Amino acid sequence: MNTTIRPQFKFDNTFARGMEGFFSNCQAESANTPRWLQFNHALAEELGLDAVALDSEAGLAIFSGNTAPEGSQPIAQAYAGHQFGGFSPQLGDGRALLLGEVIDIQQRRRDIQLKGSGRTPFSRGGDGKAAIGPVLREYLVGEAMQALGVPTTRALAAVSTGNDVYRETTLPGAILTRVAASHIRVGTFQYAAARRDEDKVRQLADYSITRHYPDTANAENPYLAFFAAVADAQASLVARWMGIGFIHGVMNTDNMTISGETIDYGPCAFMDSYSPGTVFSSIDHGGRYAYENQPEILIWNLARLAETLIPFVDPKQEKAVEILTETIECIKPLYESYWLTGMRAKIGLSTEDPSDVQLINDLLKTMDKGSADFTLVFRHLSQALRGDSNLVRGLFKNPTDFDAWEQRWWRRFEQDGISAETSAQAMDSVNPIYIPRNHKVEEALAAAVYKEDLIPFKKLLAVLAHPFDEFEGNEDYAEPAPPTQIPYKTFCGT
Ligand code: AMP
Ligand code: MG
Repeated sequence: MNTTIRPQFKFDNTFARGMEGFFSNCQAESANTPRWLQFNHALAEELGLDAVALDSEAGLAIFSGNTAPEGSQPIAQAYAGHQFGGFSPQLGDGRALLLGEVIDIQQRRRDIQLKGSGRTPFSRGGDGKAAIGPVLREYLVGEAMQALGVPTTRALAAVSTGNDVYRETTLPGAILTRVAASHIRVGTFQYAAARRDEDKVRQLADYSITRHYPDTANAENPYLAFFAAVADAQASLVARWMGIGFIHGVMNTDNMTISGETIDYGPCAFMDSYSPGTVFSSIDHGGRYAYENQPEILIWNLARLAETLIPFVDPKQEKAVEILTETIECIKPLYESYWLTGMRAKIGLSTEDPSDVQLINDLLKTMDKGSADFTLVFRHLSQALRGDSNLVRGLFKNPTDFDAWEQRWWRRFEQDGISAETSAQAMDSVNPIYIPRNHKVEEALAAAVYKEDLIPFKKLLAVLAHPFDEFEGNEDYAEPAPPTQIPYKTFCGT
C-alpha cells in the first residue's frame, strides 16, 4: 500500500484523530490478482464518490487493499464483547480495516471499511481473510435489508483477491467494502470498561453522542439519554427483524451497533415456515439466538452497555444503577410497541384496538401449527382482501384453522373502515414478496465460488433490490426452499 491515486474520497477521519487507545494503525495485505465481483454504483453516488472513476482498475486497487486511497488512515478498531454469553475483553477488527470516514450527499458521516484485508494486531489466531462465499452473502443480505427498509451496513464493493483462504477446504479469498454509520459497538464500550478506564468510556460516549445522537447532549442527564436513544434504535431494529422473519444468528455484544444498524451477516438467515424456535447457525447449540429469543437478547445486550455507563449517570453508584435499571425495564414495552405497530401494518390494520395483540399472536400460532411460510402468509393476505383467500389458506397444512382466524380478521378489518384495495396496497408495501431465500442465496454463492459464475448472484441481487414489487418471471425467487433443502444450516462467516 504505497502508491496513491487521485483523490476520490474526501476523508475526514474523526475516529483516528480523536479516539487514541481504541485502534491500531494498520495496513492491508496485498492481493495477488484482484478481480471485480460487484460494485455498488448507487451507493457510491450516495457517498458523493465518482462512481464511474471508481469502477475501474484504480478502484479495484483500492477495494482490494493494494492501494491506499489518498487521505485514508487505515486502522483496526478495538472492541471487546460477550460471545454466546461469555466475555472476551479483547476482540477487535481481526480482519477488517477502517479506511476512514466520508460525509455523504445527505451530510451523514459514514465509515468505509475493508473486511477480509489481512491480519491486524487483533487477529489472534485468525488469518484476517474472508472467502468469496461469506463476502457475497454479506453483500446480498445487507443490500436486501436496505431494500426492505431495515437499518443496515451496506456493501460498496466486493472483489476477489486471488489469494487462497484456508478453511475446511481451500477457498478463493475476497474483500468486502463495508459502509456503516459507524462501527462503534456495545463491545467498544465494554473494551474500555473492562480496562477500568473511565475517562476512555466517557470519551467514547461523548464521541458517540456527537456522532449519532447529538440531541441527547442537551438532555438533563446526557449519558442516560444517550443510553435510552441507543435502546430505542436497537429495539426498533429488532422489531423490524422480527417482522420479516430475520434471524441474525450471532447477536453477540460486539455485533450490536450503537447506531442501530444491522451488522455482520455471518450465520444469519430468513425463516421459511414459521417456527419461533428456529435456529440456523451451526455454532448456536443452545439456541441462544433463536428467532423468538432475539428481543430478550436485545435487552440483555443493552444491559451490558448500561453497565459501562454507570459512573456517568449519577455520582452515587446505587442511584445510577437504579435509574439505568428503570430505563432497561422500559425496553420490553418499547420493543413491543414497535413490534405491534409493524405487525398491525402487516395485517392491514390502520387503527389500534386492544384485541390486536391477540389477533396477531393467534395468526402466528396458526402459522406455527400449520407450518406456513412466514413471508408468503403476510404477502398473500392482501389477496384475501381482494377477494381471493385461496393463495394464503393453501400455505397452511390445516387450512380450516386459518379460515377461523380469517373470519375474526375480517370483522376487525371492517371496524377499521378503510377500503379493501387501499389496505391491500398498503400491505403489499410492507410485506415483501422476495426475501433472500436460503436456497437461492446458497445457489448464487455456490455458482460464484465453484464455477466463477456471478450471474445467479447478480440476478438475485437485482430481484432483492425490489422486494415489494412482484415481477412476472421471478416466481422462483418467491418460493420457499424445496423440502429436500430443509433443515438449512449456516456456518459462521469466517
Ligand atoms: P465475527 O464472528 O465476524 O463477528 O467476528 C468475531 C471476532 O473474530 C472479531 O474480533 C473478528 O475480527 C474476529 N475474526 C473473525 N474471523 C477472523 C479471521 N478470519 N481472522 C482474524 N480474525 C477474525
Ligand atoms: Mg462481528
